[in-house]
Amino acid sequence: MNKFIIGIDVGATNTKIGLIKAWSYKVIYRTVFGTRNYIRRKNILIKTLTSKIESLLQENHLFKNQILAIGLGLPGPIDCHKGIVHFLPNIPGWKEVPIKRILEQRLKIPVFVDNDVNLITLAEWRLGAGSGIRNLLCITLGTGVGGGLILDNKLYRGAHFLAGEIGHMPINETGPLCNCGGFACLERYVGNKYILSAAGKIFKKNNLTLEKLSLLSEKGNNQAIKIWQDVGRRIGVALSGAVNLLNLERIIIGGGVSLAGKPLWLAIRKTVQQRAMPNQARQVKIVRSKLGLDAGILGAAVLTRERF
Ligand SMILES: [Zn+2]
Repeated sequence: MNKFIIGIDVGATNTKIGLIKAWSYKVIYRTVFGTRNYIRRKNILIKTLTSKIESLLQENHLFKNQILAIGLGLPGPIDCHKGIVHFLPNIPGWKEVPIKRILEQRLKIPVFVDNDVNLITLAEWRLGAGSGIRNLLCITLGTGVGGGLILDNKLYRGAHFLAGEIGHMPINETGPLCNCGGFACLERYVGNKYILSAAGKIFKKNNLTLEKLSLLSEKGNNQAIKIWQDVGRRIGVALSGAVNLLNLERIIIGGGVSLAGKPLWLAIRKTVQQRAMPNQARQVKIVRSKLGLDAGILGAAVLTRERF
């Protein structure tokens, strides 16, 4: 009998649900809904998830015993062994929620939970830009800057499942305060809204988007090119530290900002070559992520498979 995995990727903006063939990782059904309506409405979000899963089963004429498990990614610190969400920085209202237990009780299907960026990292490592690589860092550039690590062929979670937060690596001794309580964190310079606010000051406009900024730089606008070079240099500085510390073979970069084009990518690569130690710098390849919007749900499926 064919077995399937349900992959769920809860993001601050959208929640994606996919039905995935368990052995081929083929995504055969997708559905998306907006998450913003569920801020401070945790119970309603959980209820929506269960009803979407029930209707996914119905629409695809599946019985629960055909589902190997549900893999669930959420954007925040999570105890992946107990399946408890500590909190979600961008979806207020979640605190120490035993989501694994709640969903398993309601759905009678095994549930595995992890941080969303860990799942993207698993997916890129098994199925995407990191295939066959034993030591890699995957970073996602968006509103937040996340990171996941594969070290010695295994997802590295750290002592309390909190490793990989490259977005909160300080890149200066002093600097602007970050949401996390620290200051001069990488995210504070290269998170979407900080790029846009820096660009807004230069262009004296407040309706800029990252896409417009990329278009401007593609057309040769020097100010836009400089903004992307500054972003790339800062990312490169943080990555140089990671490369020296971990002797990575590959760095995979995804998320909206990674689509910015040449000036960004040149600056990232050049900075790592200049700032990381020569041997480590020579051995690391910096590439774009491959799986795009499916990475989260595919990672949820990879997580499930690794647990069985
Ligand atoms: Zn921070």
